[in-house]
Amino acid sequence: MQRLIEGVHKFRTDEFGNYRKLFRKLSREGQNPHTLFITCSDSRVLAELITQSKPGDLFVAKNVGNIVPPASIQGDTNSTAAAIEFAVDMLQVSDVVICGHSQCGAIAALLAETPVSEAMPHLRDWLNVATPVRETLKRNYGHLRDCHARENAAAEENVLFGLENLRSYPCVQQRLAAGTLRLHGWFFKIATAELFAYDPETRQFSPLVAEP
Ligand SMILES: [Zn+2]
Repeated sequence: MQRLIEGVHKFRTDEFGNYRKLFRKLSREGQNPHTLFITCSDSRVLAELITQSKPGDLFVAKNVGNIVPPASIQGDTNSTAAAIEFAVDMLQVSDVVICGHSQCGAIAALLAETPVSEAMPHLRDWLNVATPVRETLKRNYGHLRDCHARENAAAEENVLFGLENLRSYPCVQQRLAAGTLRLHGWFFKIATAELFAYDPETRQFSPLVAEP
């Protein structure tokens, strides 16, 4: 906790001055983020850092494994679905990014032979939402022997699964039909902090920007 408190102190003394006007404006006018950014709760994936976004830019929904459940899964507490409806319908974001990443613990657990422990029933049920990703891996990636390669392939397939599920939400369907919403699938490689974007034409994830 001491580290957090020191961080708050450092923010107040060193950084806040640069943001004072912006926070005041956002407080007065409310938020108007351009993008709903859905990514993993993993501590190494920081949406604002890797896109150099400011307060007010991104509406971020983090969950374990950046899983986007289909609209048909209501559940009692589907907070990701709530974030989608709020950002797309209420905030009228123009873009939605689903960003998976390398070395994802959720993806590793999804592919693991041993099921998630009985002591973590919520985690087990949540990962079960992405069972179709595991099936896709079995069907199309049998040739991949290396476990990191399999996990990366699963992380990318999980992004595509999420994009497909996004399209099952009525609010997303309406905005897509009106031509006012764009969907993007990204993959973040932790070791090099590189971002890759899915190209529906080539069906590949390619570097989002040329390296400087
Ligand atoms: Zn993850």
